[in-house]
Amino acid sequence: MVHRTARIGLRITRAQRQRCFGLLRSAGDVWACVLEVNAWRRRRRDKPAAGFQELCRLLAQSGPGTFGELDSVGARSVLRNYSDAWFSAAARRKAGHSQVRFPRRRRGLMPVRWYHGTFTVTGQVMRIPTARGCPPLAVRLDRPIPYPADTVRSVTLLFADGRLCVDVTAELPVTVYPAGQEPDPRRVAGVDLGIIHPFAVATADGEHSLLVSGRAIRAEHRMHLADTKTRRRATAARAPSKGERGSRRWRKTRRRARLIEGRHRRRVRQALHEAAKTVVGWAVHQRVGTFTVGDPRGVLDLPAGRRHNLRLRQWQIGRTLQILQDKAALAGIRVHLVDERGTSSTCPACHRRISKPRGRNMTCPHCAFAGHRDLAAAYTIAGRTPDGATTTPPATPGGMVTHRRAGRHLPGVARARRDPRRRPPRTATEGSVGRRRPAPPPAVGSRSPNGEDPQLHRTTPGERSWTPH
Ligand SMILES: [Zn+2]
Repeated sequence: MVHRTARIGLRITRAQRQRCFGLLRSAGDVWACVLEVNAWRRRRRDKPAAGFQELCRLLAQSGPGTFGELDSVGARSVLRNYSDAWFSAAARRKAGHSQVRFPRRRRGLMPVRWYHGTFTVTGQVMRIPTARGCPPLAVRLDRPIPYPADTVRSVTLLFADGRLCVDVTAELPVTVYPAGQEPDPRRVAGVDLGIIHPFAVATADGEHSLLVSGRAIRAEHRMHLADTKTRRRATAARAPSKGERGSRRWRKTRRRARLIEGRHRRRVRQALHEAAKTVVGWAVHQRVGTFTVGDPRGVLDLPAGRRHNLRLRQWQIGRTLQILQDKAALAGIRVHLVDERGTSSTCPACHRRISKPRGRNMTCPHCAFAGHRDLAAAYTIAGRTPDGATTTPPATPGGMVTHRRAGRHLPGVARARRDPRRRPPRTATEGSVGRRRPAPPPAVGSRSPNGEDPQLHRTTPGERSWTPH
């Protein structure tokens, strides 16, 4: 069994919206209360209250009605959040990560989770429990839940990217295949993660490979950065100075910026999910049962200058890996993480070190190998599978290469690679007249359509006096 979560927007009236925000704000109050209680205890040198049971006892002592419309299940989910955060921080500090902090920051709005049996979903209407004595709260989802109704385990109400939404979590069984079509764990594919190609996948025998292009994702990042810069420049004058309360106009500006940020994040996330889905679908078709993924997270620790640092951040390696692992787990494919150092500068055919190619093509000076750089890296990674799942070193990689593009839904990808937010190219009437061409040689007689027919001047029938180049 694996757990999957889908984020679903809400279609709600203004009053329902107010009540939802009320719940989130009450959850923020619960969180703040726990922080406050523990601050007192710290001052008295007492043990902090971090255990879930202990916190629940404190909540019960506060009595009903303390936290507005929030019911005890919702309030306990906040306590569970706190308890988990506290114990994970304690464990990591014990393991020597002294920079990890305990939860100390207050938040205005906290997500609230309700587990199975406390909420009901009928069609697209979800009924959220509220405290005793409060009217029931039913909200409308903007799309049906993408899981079978009996697999849904919990819902979480939250405010993300400037919108109210719910996260629906379901417990799904690992995919079952008909006999003879299930993925074979001995069939290994190497996966190379990258920026231009989010996934380059190659089977260990060198027969099949898959390249997913991520240029649309990179373009989305770049255009978003350019848009953000322009917007900041245009609205900077409205920003309040220090200690000043922002104007209503400024609040609207901030809200707009938040919505655009959220849209950008959703676009990139969606594209990554589609790319990973392509990879897993391809692997199932090839009956690949093991992914060996080169883990490039080591490069994040190296300072690379401000431009390349930005590129690396936008790459979102951790998220890409997580998405691939989740989808592979659901499809019943094992995932190994291996060191990817040197794979893009090693010849897959003769295994000798060569200088890292600048472009996308790798040619080996020692043997006759020539091929795609990322696919070559994927072959080399496939050979690093632990417990020696591969027996023969790959022969000259070739075979069938499948090409796919990630982010096909991003603006302008369908018609051209160019982003439609850019200005359309100028027409010939204004400005440039196009490539300069040599003037035609002086014709004998007039070439104007209204003048004489040029054919009259030809010496022999069918021969032209001037041929256009
Ligand atoms: Zn070679």
